Amino acid sequence: MTTIYNFSAGPAVLPKEVLQQAAAEMLDWHGSGMSVMEMSHRGPEFMSIIAAAQSDLRELLAVPDNYKILFLQGGGLGENAIVPMNLMGRKPQPATADFVHTGSWTGKSIKEAKKYGNVNIAASGEASGFTTVPPRDSWKLTPGAAYVHLCTNETIDGVEYQFAPDVALETGDAPIVADMSSHILSRVIDVSKYGVIFGGAQKNIGPAGLTIVIVREDLLGHALPICPSAFDWKIVADNDSMYNTPPTYAIYIAGLVFQWLKQQGGVAAMEQKNIAKSGLLYDYLDSTDFYENRVEKGSRSRMNVPFYLKDESLNAAFLAEAKTNGLLQLKGHKSVGGMRASIYNAMPIDGVQALVSFMQEFARKHS
Ligand code: PMP
Repeated sequence: MTTIYNFSAGPAVLPKEVLQQAAAEMLDWHGSGMSVMEMSHRGPEFMSIIAAAQSDLRELLAVPDNYKILFLQGGGLGENAIVPMNLMGRKPQPATADFVHTGSWTGKSIKEAKKYGNVNIAASGEASGFTTVPPRDSWKLTPGAAYVHLCTNETIDGVEYQFAPDVALETGDAPIVADMSSHILSRVIDVSKYGVIFGGAQKNIGPAGLTIVIVREDLLGHALPICPSAFDWKIVADNDSMYNTPPTYAIYIAGLVFQWLKQQGGVAAMEQKNIAKSGLLYDYLDSTDFYENRVEKGSRSRMNVPFYLKDESLNAAFLAEAKTNGLLQLKGHKSVGGMRASIYNAMPIDGVQALVSFMQEFARKHS
């Protein structure tokens, strides 16, 4: 039987061991006689699940004690409104937020933030077709900005920050808000460099429906009066992510993924695997004229690798033959076309090797 490898950008592949454990525990979680889906979120069983998930995530990312970890809903796009509603109030109104525009996702963030305050585009990769992260020394930041928003991995454009910027010199005390939806837990980060880290779970963490927010404590308590209570980070933090019913089953699966990550050696070990996996694919792309990746080498994503066939009339054949070979969901985002291989933590190196072998064979056949 053909081995299946799923390259979806999200919802995305999950570790097989996690799915097997969830299947084994589906009807009766740890002798409770209930499925996790059927438990009260305030009962001792689920309270133990969420507490373990939170402490494992804290351990995996070495989250300092003065940061809260929140389990929310609303996804990455929800946070595009939730962030300004929580942070614009740090400064006299109307406040300004700075954005570094690196692609599709910051584009959406900018549009949404304008509903809640002024937006300054401190730097943009648009002129290059979003093939690079604008260098830090080109950013035009706002003194007294309420915050600085970055998307540290642009899932569609395949552009990733390879550095953790500092913005204090120009802005004063503006915290960096980082949308890490598509690369959280894929590489070691220094959480203390960020004020807020957020991400939808459906790529490196678990099922859609759960949004992770990691927020420094001094940034709580500034929500604009219009902010819905369920999205006011202070209220959510004061209620241990139980102000309203959290996405319980998604939190349970995320918790299993965190345990799996610890068994794999944690984030540092994962990062080494991700360097090897993405290196394999980029090395091949750089060695052939049949395909191309257009991202500047220093800004290439280890998680999302967009590529184009030089002869785009072969796109449909490429996708059909890939599928026959067990290589699924390689079609690029509709806004940019081409192909995209998303190679998150749960994608084994064998999957990337199978993709490269297939691409070589396809190129040989169609050259
Ligand atoms: N930000 C990034 C970087 C993403 O990749 C995505 C989803 N692909 C989003 C935000 C939007 O997330 P959601 O669909 O969960 O709102």
